[in-house]
Amino acid sequence: MQINTEGIVLRQSKAVGGKKVVTLLTKKYGKIAVGTTVAHKSKTKSALALSPFTLGNYQLFKNRGYYNMDSAEAIKSYFAIGEDVGKYMYSSYALELLDRLLPEEMSMSSIFTLTVNFFEAMEKRKSGYETLLLALEIKLLRKLGIFPRVEKCTCCERTDNLEFFSIEDGGVICSFCKVNKQDRLIYDANFGMIDIIKYFDKKPFKEFEKLNLKEETASKLQKVIKDYIAFHFDLREMKSETLLNIAVDNKSDDKSQ
Ligand SMILES: [Zn+2]
Repeated sequence: MQINTEGIVLRQSKAVGGKKVVTLLTKKYGKIAVGTTVAHKSKTKSALALSPFTLGNYQLFKNRGYYNMDSAEAIKSYFAIGEDVGKYMYSSYALELLDRLLPEEMSMSSIFTLTVNFFEAMEKRKSGYETLLLALEIKLLRKLGIFPRVEKCTCCERTDNLEFFSIEDGGVICSFCKVNKQDRLIYDANFGMIDIIKYFDKKPFKEFEKLNLKEETASKLQKVIKDYIAFHFDLREMKSETLLNIAVDNKSDDKSQ
Protein backbone atom coordinates (compact mmCIF):
# COMPACT_ATOMS: atom_id res chain seq x y z
CA MET A 1 0.00 0.00 0.00
CA GLN A 2 1.36 3.38 -1.07
CA ILE A 3 1.07 6.13 1.51
CA ASN A 4 2.12 9.74 1.75
CA THR A 5 2.66 11.80 4.86
CA GLU A 6 4.44 14.80 6.26
CA GLY A 7 7.02 13.95 8.87
CA ILE A 8 10.13 14.77 10.86
CA VAL A 9 13.15 12.51 11.34
CA LEU A 10 13.50 11.57 15.00
CA ARG A 11 16.41 9.20 14.66
CA GLN A 12 18.50 7.30 12.13
CA SER A 13 20.02 3.97 12.90
CA LYS A 14 23.09 2.54 11.26
CA ALA A 15 22.84 0.77 7.98
CA VAL A 16 22.45 -2.98 8.00
CA GLY A 17 23.15 -4.57 4.63
CA GLY A 18 23.10 -1.19 2.89
CA LYS A 19 19.72 -0.37 4.35
CA LYS A 20 19.04 2.18 7.04
CA VAL A 21 16.14 2.52 9.41
CA VAL A 22 14.78 6.00 9.94
CA THR A 23 12.38 6.72 12.77
CA LEU A 24 9.87 9.30 11.60
CA LEU A 25 7.33 11.29 13.53
CA THR A 26 4.57 11.53 10.94
CA LYS A 27 1.46 13.62 10.83
CA LYS A 28 -0.83 10.76 9.85
CA TYR A 29 0.61 7.64 11.45
CA GLY A 30 2.48 8.85 14.52
CA LYS A 31 5.95 7.46 15.16
CA ILE A 32 6.99 4.82 12.64
CA ALA A 33 10.20 3.02 11.67
CA VAL A 34 10.93 3.18 7.95
CA GLY A 35 13.53 1.27 5.96
CA THR A 36 15.37 3.29 3.35
CA THR A 37 18.22 2.98 0.90
CA VAL A 38 18.43 6.75 0.43
CA ALA A 39 21.97 7.76 1.40
CA HIS A 40 21.57 10.81 3.60
CA LYS A 41 25.04 12.15 2.80
CA SER A 42 24.27 12.44 -0.91
CA LYS A 43 23.11 15.77 -2.33
CA THR A 44 19.74 14.60 -3.62
CA LYS A 45 16.38 16.08 -2.65
CA SER A 46 15.46 12.88 -0.84
CA ALA A 47 18.69 12.99 1.15
CA LEU A 48 17.94 16.50 2.39
CA ALA A 49 14.59 15.29 3.73
CA LEU A 50 16.48 12.79 5.90
CA SER A 51 18.58 15.46 7.61
CA PRO A 52 17.82 16.32 11.20
CA PHE A 53 15.54 19.31 11.92
CA THR A 54 13.77 19.06 8.59
CA LEU A 55 10.10 18.94 7.82
CA GLY A 56 9.60 16.59 4.90
CA ASN A 57 7.04 14.89 2.74
CA TYR A 58 7.53 11.14 2.60
CA GLN A 59 6.26 8.62 0.06
CA LEU A 60 6.14 5.27 1.81
CA PHE A 61 5.16 1.77 0.93
CA LYS A 62 3.62 -0.40 3.61
CA ASN A 63 3.88 -4.13 3.26
CA ARG A 64 3.13 -6.75 5.96
CA GLY A 65 3.40 -4.15 8.68
CA TYR A 66 6.76 -2.76 7.48
CA TYR A 67 7.30 0.67 6.03
CA ASN A 68 9.74 1.39 3.22
CA MET A 69 10.63 4.78 1.85
CA ASP A 70 10.08 5.27 -1.88
CA SER A 71 11.07 8.90 -1.93
CA ALA A 72 11.22 11.98 0.23
CA GLU A 73 11.20 15.69 -0.28
CA ALA A 74 12.18 18.43 2.16
CA ILE A 75 9.43 20.99 2.76
CA LYS A 76 11.46 23.12 5.13
CA SER A 77 14.88 22.81 6.69
CA TYR A 78 15.49 24.52 10.00
CA PHE A 79 19.12 25.28 9.21
CA ALA A 80 19.53 27.76 12.07
CA ILE A 81 19.05 24.97 14.61
CA GLY A 82 22.04 23.06 13.28
CA GLU A 83 24.20 26.17 13.25
CA ASP A 84 23.93 27.12 16.92
CA VAL A 85 25.28 24.75 19.54
CA GLY A 86 22.64 25.67 22.15
CA LYS A 87 19.71 25.35 19.75
CA TYR A 88 21.15 22.11 18.47
CA MET A 89 21.44 20.56 21.91
CA TYR A 90 18.01 21.54 23.21
CA SER A 91 16.42 20.46 19.93
CA SER A 92 18.28 17.13 19.93
CA TYR A 93 17.07 16.56 23.47
CA ALA A 94 13.50 17.29 22.36
CA LEU A 95 13.73 14.80 19.48
CA GLU A 96 15.20 12.10 21.67
CA LEU A 97 12.49 12.68 24.25
CA LEU A 98 9.76 12.36 21.61
CA ASP A 99 11.40 9.21 20.31
CA ARG A 100 11.52 7.68 23.79
CA LEU A 101 8.06 8.75 24.97
CA LEU A 102 5.88 8.12 21.94
CA PRO A 103 4.59 4.62 21.32
CA GLU A 104 4.82 3.41 17.72
CA GLU A 105 1.93 4.03 15.36
CA MET A 106 -0.11 6.08 17.77
CA SER A 107 -1.44 8.73 15.46
CA MET A 108 -1.54 12.11 17.18
CA SER A 109 -1.30 14.92 14.69
CA SER A 110 -1.31 17.45 17.55
CA ILE A 111 2.08 16.15 18.74
CA PHE A 112 3.40 16.47 15.20
CA THR A 113 2.12 20.06 15.01
CA LEU A 114 3.62 20.81 18.43
CA THR A 115 7.02 19.61 17.21
CA VAL A 116 6.83 21.75 14.07
CA ASN A 117 5.88 24.78 16.19
CA PHE A 118 8.83 24.03 18.46
CA PHE A 119 11.22 24.00 15.46
CA GLU A 120 9.72 27.22 14.09
CA ALA A 121 10.16 29.02 17.40
CA MET A 122 13.63 27.58 18.06
CA GLU A 123 14.84 28.63 14.62
CA LYS A 124 13.90 32.27 15.27
CA ARG A 125 15.11 32.47 18.86
CA LYS A 126 18.23 34.29 20.04
CA SER A 127 18.26 33.07 23.66
CA GLY A 128 16.28 31.19 26.30
CA TYR A 129 16.25 27.87 24.47
CA GLU A 130 15.41 25.98 27.65
CA THR A 131 12.13 27.92 27.96
CA LEU A 132 10.98 26.41 24.67
CA LEU A 133 12.03 22.92 25.67
CA LEU A 134 10.00 23.26 28.88
CA ALA A 135 6.95 24.44 26.97
CA LEU A 136 7.24 21.43 24.66
CA GLU A 137 7.65 19.02 27.57
CA ILE A 138 4.66 20.36 29.49
CA LYS A 139 2.42 20.28 26.44
CA LEU A 140 3.62 16.76 25.71
CA LEU A 141 2.74 15.59 29.23
CA ARG A 142 -0.81 16.85 28.71
CA LYS A 143 -1.13 15.16 25.32
CA LEU A 144 0.23 11.86 26.64
CA GLY A 145 -2.19 11.91 29.57
CA ILE A 146 0.37 12.15 32.37
CA PHE A 147 0.00 15.80 33.25
CA PRO A 148 0.84 16.47 36.92
CA ARG A 149 -1.91 17.50 39.33
CA VAL A 150 -1.45 21.19 40.00
CA GLU A 151 -4.83 22.43 41.29
CA LYS A 152 -5.10 20.49 44.56
CA CYS A 153 -2.81 18.72 46.98
CA THR A 154 -2.40 15.19 45.59
CA CYS A 155 -2.60 13.79 49.14
CA CYS A 156 -5.37 15.72 50.95
CA GLU A 157 -7.03 17.71 48.13
CA ARG A 158 -6.75 21.09 49.81
CA THR A 159 -6.23 24.02 47.48
CA ASP A 160 -4.09 26.32 49.63
CA ASN A 161 -0.53 26.10 50.93
CA LEU A 162 0.54 24.19 47.84
CA GLU A 163 4.22 24.73 48.39
CA PHE A 164 5.82 21.50 47.25
CA PHE A 165 5.89 19.24 44.24
CA SER A 166 6.12 15.51 44.77
CA ILE A 167 7.46 13.50 41.83
CA GLU A 168 6.19 10.23 43.23
CA ASP A 169 2.68 11.54 44.03
CA GLY A 170 2.54 13.13 40.58
CA GLY A 171 1.83 16.72 41.51
CA VAL A 172 1.67 19.44 44.13
CA ILE A 173 1.40 18.74 47.82
CA CYS A 174 0.58 21.13 50.65
CA SER A 175 2.99 22.08 53.41
CA PHE A 176 0.95 20.05 55.94
CA CYS A 177 1.24 16.81 53.98
CA LYS A 178 4.92 17.51 53.35
CA VAL A 179 5.64 17.26 57.09
CA ASN A 180 4.85 13.54 57.08
CA LYS A 181 6.92 12.73 54.03
CA GLN A 182 10.53 11.65 53.97
CA ASP A 183 10.53 11.27 50.20
CA ARG A 184 13.69 12.38 48.43
CA LEU A 185 11.88 13.44 45.27
CA ILE A 186 10.01 16.40 46.71
CA TYR A 187 10.84 19.85 45.41
CA ASP A 188 10.12 23.27 46.81
CA ALA A 189 7.57 24.76 44.39
CA ASN A 190 7.97 28.33 45.60
CA PHE A 191 9.67 29.67 42.52
CA GLY A 192 6.55 30.15 40.43
CA MET A 193 6.74 26.70 38.86
CA ILE A 194 3.04 25.91 39.24
CA ASP A 195 2.01 29.12 37.46
CA ILE A 196 4.54 28.44 34.71
CA ILE A 197 3.26 24.88 34.23
CA LYS A 198 -0.33 26.13 34.06
CA TYR A 199 0.63 28.89 31.66
CA PHE A 200 2.43 26.53 29.27
CA ASP A 201 -0.50 24.16 29.47
CA LYS A 202 -3.19 26.73 28.68
CA LYS A 203 -1.63 28.99 26.05
CA PRO A 204 -0.93 28.06 22.44
CA PHE A 205 2.72 27.38 21.65
CA LYS A 206 3.00 30.40 19.37
CA GLU A 207 2.58 32.70 22.38
CA PHE A 208 5.87 31.48 23.82
CA GLU A 209 7.95 32.81 20.94
CA LYS A 210 8.89 35.92 22.88
CA LEU A 211 8.73 34.39 26.35
CA ASN A 212 12.01 33.96 28.17
CA LEU A 213 12.13 32.49 31.67
CA LYS A 214 14.98 33.50 33.94
CA GLU A 215 17.82 31.07 33.43
CA GLU A 216 17.75 29.94 37.06
CA THR A 217 13.98 29.40 37.03
CA ALA A 218 14.17 27.45 33.77
CA SER A 219 16.88 25.11 34.99
CA LYS A 220 15.11 24.50 38.33
CA LEU A 221 11.90 23.63 36.51
CA GLN A 222 13.77 21.49 34.00
CA LYS A 223 15.18 19.43 36.85
CA VAL A 224 11.69 18.78 38.24
CA ILE A 225 10.23 17.93 34.82
CA LYS A 226 13.16 15.67 33.99
CA ASP A 227 12.72 13.73 37.24
CA TYR A 228 8.95 13.61 36.73
CA ILE A 229 9.29 12.18 33.22
CA ALA A 230 12.04 9.76 34.26
CA PHE A 231 9.96 8.51 37.19
CA HIS A 232 6.66 8.12 35.36
CA PHE A 233 8.12 6.75 32.12
CA ASP A 234 10.96 4.78 33.64
CA LEU A 235 13.52 6.56 31.46
CA ARG A 236 17.20 6.21 32.06
CA GLU A 237 19.69 8.90 31.15
CA MET A 238 19.29 10.10 27.60
CA LYS A 239 22.17 10.41 25.16
CA SER A 240 21.53 14.08 24.42
CA GLU A 241 21.38 14.78 28.15
CA THR A 242 25.14 14.42 28.35
CA LEU A 243 25.33 17.11 25.68
CA LEU A 244 22.99 19.36 27.66
CA ASN A 245 25.09 18.99 30.79
CA ILE A 246 28.16 19.99 28.80
CA ALA A 247 26.28 23.05 27.52
CA VAL A 248 25.33 24.04 31.07
CA ASP A 249 28.92 23.59 32.27
CA ASN A 250 30.20 25.76 29.45
CA LYS A 251 27.67 28.43 30.32
CA SER A 252 28.82 28.57 33.93
CA ASP A 253 32.42 28.73 32.72
CA ASP A 254 31.52 31.74 30.61
CA LYS A 255 30.14 33.52 33.65
CA SER A 256 33.22 32.99 35.75
CA GLN A 257 35.45 34.50 33.09
ZN1 LIG B 1 -2.14 18.06 51.60
